[in-house]
Amino acid sequence: MAANVAHYTATIETEPSIFEVIAQQSLNSLLHPAFHKFTRFLAQVNANRFSWLVQYSDEVFLVLNGLLQSHYLRTTGASFAEYFYGLQRVTSSNQPLTEAHYKLSLIFLVVLPYLKIKIDEQIQLYRVENAESYLHIGLCKRASIFAHSFFHVSYGFWTFVQYLRYLSNTSCHQTPPLQLMQLKLVYLATPEFMPSFWTALFRGQLSFTDLRAGLLQNLLEISAFFMQFLQVWNTERANYSFTSLPTVPPPPLDSKAGAFKGRCPICLQSYKIPTVLPVSGYVFCFPCIVRHLQRDTRCPVTRWPAKSLDVIRLYDSV
Ligand SMILES: [Zn+2]
Repeated sequence: MAANVAHYTATIETEPSIFEVIAQQSLNSLLHPAFHKFTRFLAQVNANRFSWLVQYSDEVFLVLNGLLQSHYLRTTGASFAEYFYGLQRVTSSNQPLTEAHYKLSLIFLVVLPYLKIKIDEQIQLYRVENAESYLHIGLCKRASIFAHSFFHVSYGFWTFVQYLRYLSNTSCHQTPPLQLMQLKLVYLATPEFMPSFWTALFRGQLSFTDLRAGLLQNLLEISAFFMQFLQVWNTERANYSFTSLPTVPPPPLDSKAGAFKGRCPICLQSYKIPTVLPVSGYVFCFPCIVRHLQRDTRCPVTRWPAKSLDVIRLYDSV
């Protein structure tokens, strides 16, 4: 933080455009799906060794994201994505972040997104249950679904209003979290005498420690660039989403498949609300498989890693 005080000597009056603000938010929102996809890839390569990673991927991401954002906030006064777009956080009066701002920024960048992932997952399960008319979900779950939708619409509206206020110069805070923390984004103040990592590297001016730290930092930024490049590249493909699961070839017929023909492999009864687990291709009762996956994140027959939201309701027998 002290380094920022020293570096942040000249205030640049030019404000970042709304496109840069949105672009850095978009990059920030790609970090979790990219990590999630990486854990799925590892689990597919070696299910026995990495199935725990699928089960705890959100918690592992919480720790890694915490370390990443903490490092960037401490050294640059910006989140990883903000730094990537040449932005940094300052107070409304153009002062560097205080310790309280640093902690609040970490909560908004790391803790709240983690809680959002968990709540979104739970609400999504409630929605699936609610779609089955004869499961009769309770009032509490219905109220949670309503509150979740209401919050999302309200937050979207608040964000839109905040963009308009920023564009019309009636507020200097670009987003709702920045408004709550009384912070704003400005262009990163880089001292002119400090050469970039790549310039220093080619001039041979880096010590081994600087080289190691610089490579780590720049590799992350290069990875972020490729992540965004892939996202833009793939928008041309219909229905593509970075968060979608990879398309895998159908698995060969499992030797145990015959034993469960027409029956749920868990309760061994005929299916109630037939639901398929795509990773293995087995069909279960919806309550059986969801209850199982909440305890153990693997297919009960093949032991392939899976999560509750992977299940797909089958309607062909209705
Ligand atoms: Zn069953």
